[in-house]
Amino acid sequence: MSIPATQYGFVFTKKDGLKIRENMPVLEPKADQVLLKVDAVGLCHSDLHAIYDGFDFGDNYVMGHEIAGTIVKKGAMVDFWDLNTRVACFGPNSCGHCQLCRTGFENDCINVVNGWFGLGKNGGYQQYLLVEKPRNLVAIPDNVESSDAAAITDALLTPYHAMRLAGVRSGTKLLQIGAGGLGVNGIQIAKAFGAQVTVIDKKPEAVDVAKSLGADEVYSALPESTSPGSFDVAIDYVSTQGTFDTCQKYVRSKGNIVPVGLAAPRISFNLGDLALREINVLGSFWGTSSDLKECFDLVSKGKVKPKVTVAPLKQLPEYIVKLQNSAYEGRVVFKP
Ligand code: NAD
Ligand code: ZN
Ligand code: ZN
Repeated sequence: MSIPATQYGFVFTKKDGLKIRENMPVLEPKADQVLLKVDAVGLCHSDLHAIYDGFDFGDNYVMGHEIAGTIVKKGAMVDFWDLNTRVACFGPNSCGHCQLCRTGFENDCINVVNGWFGLGKNGGYQQYLLVEKPRNLVAIPDNVESSDAAAITDALLTPYHAMRLAGVRSGTKLLQIGAGGLGVNGIQIAKAFGAQVTVIDKKPEAVDVAKSLGADEVYSALPESTSPGSFDVAIDYVSTQGTFDTCQKYVRSKGNIVPVGLAAPRISFNLGDLALREINVLGSFWGTSSDLKECFDLVSKGKVKPKVTVAPLKQLPEYIVKLQNSAYEGRVVFKP
């Protein structure tokens, strides 16, 4: 396969936002690096936070952090990957040797803050991606499509990790807010865990999708008759003050709230209620590589089917506007 010398990609700069750039060089892997042909890359709402809401992940990098590709070139020292292997990027792009990495929390690696794939460091909104640390690639099972694999690396991994942290299991009464890119997979994972799932989404179409994916109850807002304290766990894929307040009101004493969404820069809580009812608020970031492996297993075994729409990468600007307006269901995944 011949690899071109140049390519196009979408580069984020603080000055100009996200802009297409033509004639970017296709980089040459050094001895310990590999080059991926990007096969699929998902658009996450976090990209919008970086472009429009002042979330500072860095400057002057190719965006796109849900990446699946094929290894098309590798350095002489890379002996653990074969050419033509389909792989997905482990987004946190961890160092592998800090205390957090060594104890299994590579998602919290202290050495790569703002060095994540597509969030600070070059990502998948381009045709070819140079991977400096091939340890952060995982093989895609043969029966999993690359477009699904891209979504698995975040839109599935993040809800999976959050629910593991919160102890969601068989019989858990789960309140889930938001049934967009992450939430549609969150419902399916929660059902695979055996949870009883109540979903709130303000968008009528998302309510229908949530029902079709197996949610037990779905609302645009909880009915008046719902008793406060009636859920074991509340996972918030939005995280505004309003959605957090809903979580705090309806989670039980000793229950867990996970504000996965990043909509509000700051959130306050009712301290008296939090203390007296011993409610736990858990931070949750992306997921670990072992979570990612388990997510691939769930999809490979047919227990979860990522909800993706596939589009050409050059349509990224149109889909950004659509995502701002919540104008499609699930995840959009691009083919460069
Ligand atoms: P999305 O836009 O695809 O989905 C959001 C959904 O929430 C939509 O269906 C929308 O209709 C619904 N919604 C919005 N406001 C609502 C409200 N007030 N009440 C009820 N429903 C509401 O977004 P996404 O890609 O699923 O990402 C969700 C959030 O998760 C984003 O803030 C993103 O930055 C964040 N995120 C966090 C992590 C992490 O590691 N913590 C990882 C990935 C994404
Ligand atoms: Zn994301
Ligand atoms: Zn580390």
